[in-house]
Formats: sequence, structure tokens, C-alpha cells
Amino acid sequence: MEEDLEVGGRGAVRGAAELPRLVTEVREAYRNGRTRPAAWRVQQLNGIIRMISERESEIVQTLYTDLGKPSHESYVTEVSLVRSACKLAIKELKKWMAPLKVSGSITTFPSWGAIVAEPLGVALVISAWNFPFLLSVEPLVGAISAGCAMVLKPSEVAPATAALLSKLVPLYLDSSVIRVVEGGVDETTVLLDQQWDKIFYTGSPRVGRIVMAAASKHLTPVTLELGGKCPVYIDRTADLKVGLRRIALGKWGCNNGQACIAPDYLLIDEIIASEVVDTLIDVIETFYGKDPKTSQDLSRIVNTKHYSRLAGFLDDPKISSKIVHGGARDDNKLYISPTLVCDVPMDSTLMSEEIFGPILPIIKVKGVQEAIDIISDRPKPLVAYVFTKNKEVEKRIVASISSGGMVVNDTIVHFLNPGLPFGGVGESGMSSYHGKFSFDAFSHKKAVLYRNNLGDVPARFPPFTTMKQNFRRAIMDGHYLSAVISLTGLKK
Ligand code: NAD
Repeated sequence: MEEDLEVGGRGAVRGAAELPRLVTEVREAYRNGRTRPAAWRVQQLNGIIRMISERESEIVQTLYTDLGKPSHESYVTEVSLVRSACKLAIKELKKWMAPLKVSGSITTFPSWGAIVAEPLGVALVISAWNFPFLLSVEPLVGAISAGCAMVLKPSEVAPATAALLSKLVPLYLDSSVIRVVEGGVDETTVLLDQQWDKIFYTGSPRVGRIVMAAASKHLTPVTLELGGKCPVYIDRTADLKVGLRRIALGKWGCNNGQACIAPDYLLIDEIIASEVVDTLIDVIETFYGKDPKTSQDLSRIVNTKHYSRLAGFLDDPKISSKIVHGGARDDNKLYISPTLVCDVPMDSTLMSEEIFGPILPIIKVKGVQEAIDIISDRPKPLVAYVFTKNKEVEKRIVASISSGGMVVNDTIVHFLNPGLPFGGVGESGMSSYHGKFSFDAFSHKKAVLYRNNLGDVPARFPPFTTMKQNFRRAIMDGHYLSAVISLTGLKK
């Protein structure tokens, strides 16, 4: 197998005109069946692990170049997660690939069934800039595990990581069936115009619509990992000492709020509102110091476009007068300090658009019902968080809020459990991945029914006499005694 691989043979492709040919090449290589054996899949997964082991410092440095991401944060939230996804897939692959036996049914007796996972085929993976390594390579882990061929289009907004991936992937993986294409809208548009067997997209709901429209042309299945506003409800019984540290870490400690699962706004029981704000300010100062600009633990805003967008939120007169903490800015360094805004009007842009940055709006509510109403009035979030010690409140939130995921008494950690599907619902996306769900996202579950040549009863075939009709009706309706009686001719 090893000598068969064309590792390092093909580099990155630049230029939209080359892309249709590239996709054709990948499809031809896929048709040879090279991606199907478990051995190939394990070899590629080991290739990713080896890439990480040998290039960790380069990867982490590149993430710093793109996002000013602290190196240990890059390791914990990107590199290590890809490595553990590979390890899990290698460990479980045989089990995931094994046909799932299904018992036969009376209507097809004698028979037995199996659900056979087959690779969907040639997949397009389009990723976002905020976790540019993780969100590019983790879907590849799913595609490889499932036995697909793939083309990865990383985000042009994290150009150093995109360039690094297009350099490293051909060095460590089978470049006849795993290719990286650098580029932005033009290249993605050409790629979307090609025929795919699966499109896995991470990014905004706006572009998600473009992806889905393109996929519909060829009836291509899609996974859409989208974003939106992730709410946090803090109930009056919540343990604030524990909870607010976890909220602060989820907001500012994970790419400085530029994460799809970052807390987007807080809904706080009005009784504890001022205590929450005071404690949260203390937590921010403990984590990032009196002047967070000097902290080594905060990523920067990705680029001027996003910086101006976030600054625009704060310049809104409806918002600027309500800043209770932070609000400091440095245009040259693309820096905005962790910022709390209290009593934010519901019709402000801050409450209608995904924030994706270090600003955290706070809204007082009368209790859990008002929180549920506010959340349910908005598009379904990727994740909703609730902090409470009250089991009734917990139950009500879990039962009444529809969201991609939910975490009780913490933030973002659901992401770390590969036993949980990660994905959105409604406006926050469709389908999911992580762990076995990644394998499933790139697999077709083929239903196979096995029969031998025994077991044909005459009633199956025409001419359908009354007796035969009675028998067939009884069998289809599950009335087996009537079926036997109908054969005696006693039933008219
Ligand atoms: P984006 O939608 O702007 O870009 C994502 C990808 O789409 C990029 O690769 C880009 O090149 C491509 N693209 C952009 N415009 C396009 C167009 N007109 N036609 C075709 N392709 C186009 O998203 P982003 O700014 O990179 O990421 C931010 C968004 O992604 C946020 O909404 C965030 O919540 C969401 N997100 C979701 C997840 C998740 O796992 N659910 C993870 C990270 C980010």
C-alpha cells in the first residue's frame, strides 16, 4: 500500500481555471477504489498524527500569525482535538465500518438484513477562519474514516493556515485523493459548480444558503456547520463563582469571542443582575489583568473588516451609553478589550447579529419563562447555555429550547465530548460531526436485504384469488392467526 501512494506528488492548486480538472482527477483516483480499504484510512489518519507531531510548532506559529492565538490555546482548542479525533477513528474504525446486522421480518421471511456503510464518494470541505486548522482537518478525519476522496478549501481569511495546509497535506497524505485548494469566493464558486457526492461547509448562514443552493443542482447531501447567537441564561440559583469563570473562559478564552459556540449574550435573572456584573468584572480582571491589552492569553480580532464591524456595534449610540466595562480600542492593533454592555435594546444590531468578538451584551429577565421566550423568538442557536441549581429550571430549558446543543452549568465543553454530535438546527445548521458522527456524515447507510431461494408462498404471486388476498392482507396487517385461517379457506 505504502509505495502505492502519491504522497507529496501534487501541491496546492491556485487559480480557478484549474479546478474542474483537479476535481476530475480526484474523482478518477477515487473510482480506482484506493480509499476503500481500512488500511488506507488508517494510514491517512496516521499521516495526520505524524503531521501534527512533526509540525506542531509550525502549525501553532501559523495560527498566531493569522489570529494572534496564544500557543497553548491553539494546542488545546485546535491541534490536540484533531489528534484525538484521529486516534479515536483509528481505534473505532473497524467497528464503524462493520455492517450492522438487522433481523429479518415476517413479510420477507426467510431473510436477514445489514446496514452497510459505504463512502459517499468525493467530498468538498469548505472551512472557516476562526479555528482554521481544526475546522479544516477534523472534517477530513471524518471523510478519510468513511473512505471518501476530498478537496479541502480552507478560509482565505486565515491565509497563513491555508498556505500551511496546502504545503503540508501533500507531504503527509495521499494527494491523489486528498487535495487542498487555496482561494476565496471565486475559487469556492467554481468548486461549488462541480459535481460532488458530499459538501461539508463551516461558516456563516449567509454563505450556507449559497452552498445549499449549489448542492441542490446535483442533489448533493450537505452538512452545514453554521453560527448564530448562542444565549446564556443565568438563573437566580446559579453558582456564580463557578459559572462566571466558565462563561468568561467560553467567551474570551476561546479565540476572544470569535467562536461559533462562544456565549453571545447573557440573560440574567434581574434579582442577581448587579451581582453578576460585578463578579464578571472581577473575573475578567483576574483572568486578563487591569489592562487586558497586555495579556498573553487573548487572541486578536482577525482583520480590519471584522474589527470595524465590532467597533460599529460599540459606536451605535444605543449601545455606547450602556457599556459598563471595557470598550477600550486600538485601531492599529485590532484590539477591543473584553466589553460588557448592560440593558441592551432588543432591536439594536448587537442583539440581532452574531457578535463573534469580545463584546458581551447583558439583558435582565424576570425569570426562566422570559428567557425561553427571548431565545425562542430568535433563530435556533448552535448551542444554548443555562446556569442553575434548580432541576425544574434545567428541565424546562432542556425541554423547551430547540438548539444544536445545550450545556448545563458550563460553556463550550460539549465540543470536547466525541460521543455527542456537534451541529446546528434550523438557522445554525444541519447534520453533525465529531467521533462516529463524522464517519456517518461522509457515509451512506446502504440497506442490504439478503435472501436465499427458499420461502416463496404461492400467495405471493398472481392470480390473486380471494384466499390469497385474505392471506396477504392478514400478513401485511400483522394478523398471523387470520393468515393461517385464510389458508384453510374458512375465511371468506
Ligand atoms: P464565511 O461564511 O464568510 O466563510 C466560510 C467559507 O465560505 C470560506 O472558506 C469562504 O471562502 C467561503 N465563502 C465566503 N463567501 C462565499 C461566497 N459568496 N460563495 C462561496 N463561498 C464563500 O464564514 P466565516 O466568516 O469564515 O466564519 C464565520 C461564521 O462561521 C460565523 O457565523 C460562525 O458562527 C460560523 N462558524 C460555525 C462553526 C460551526 O462549527 N458551526 C465553526 C466556525 C464558524
